[in-house]
Amino acid sequence: MQFEQLFDMAVKFHGHRCPAMPMGLRAGLAAMKVLGAERAQDKELYVISETGKGHAAGCFLDGIMAATGCTYGKSNIEKRYWNKMAFTLVDTRKGKAVRVSLKPEFFEQALQSPFVQQRRKGMPPQDVPAEVLEPLLQRVLSLPEEQFLDISDPFDFPWEGGQACFDVVRCDGCGEAVFTNAVTEKDGKTLCGGCARPL
Ligand SMILES: [Zn+2]
Ligand SMILES: [Zn+2]
Repeated sequence: MQFEQLFDMAVKFHGHRCPAMPMGLRAGLAAMKVLGAERAQDKELYVISETGKGHAAGCFLDGIMAATGCTYGKSNIEKRYWNKMAFTLVDTRKGKAVRVSLKPEFFEQALQSPFVQQRRKGMPPQDVPAEVLEPLLQRVLSLPEEQFLDISDPFDFPWEGGQACFDVVRCDGCGEAVFTNAVTEKDGKTLCGGCARPL
C-alpha cells in the first residue's frame, strides 16, 4: 500500500484529522521497517502499547493499528495503560521485537501546540480550524524519524501463540452462545462471564 493510500484509510478509520494519529502511523511503519515486517494479515505481528486512557494523544494508537494491521478484533494488540507514548512491536514468527517511543522533547513540544490548546479548552478535534491543524499534521508527516522517534535495536522476544477456540456452548444462565475457553462451572451450571460475574 502506498503511504497516501494508507494515510487516507487511517483517517477514515480514525474518524478525524489530528497530529497524534499520524505520529502513530509513522511510528508503526518505523517499527515494521526495523523488523523487516509487512502489515499483519493475521497474527504475524503483535503490539504491546504503553498508551492508556484519559490522556491526550491517545489517537497515536489508531495510527499504530492502521500501520501494523494489529487490531482488537484479531486480538494481536494489548494496552498496558501506562499512559506513555510508546509501544513494542513483536514479529511473532521470528521471535523478534522493537520498542518505539516518542522523543520526550518532541512530545512535550507537541502538547504546547495550538491544536492541543484548542483541545484543552474542550474543542473536539474535528472542529479545530484547518489553518491550525494542517501545518502541524504536515509537519508530522514530513519530519525525519530520528527527530521525533526513539527506536530500539531489534531484540529477542520468544513467542508462544495459542490455538484459537472454535467451539461454543449455551450458557445455562442466559442461553447465549459462549466460547468454551471462557466459561465458569458453578453449582452444576455452565455460565458465561456475564452470568457468572454480573457487572
Ligand atoms: Zn485523533
Ligand atoms: Zn450467560
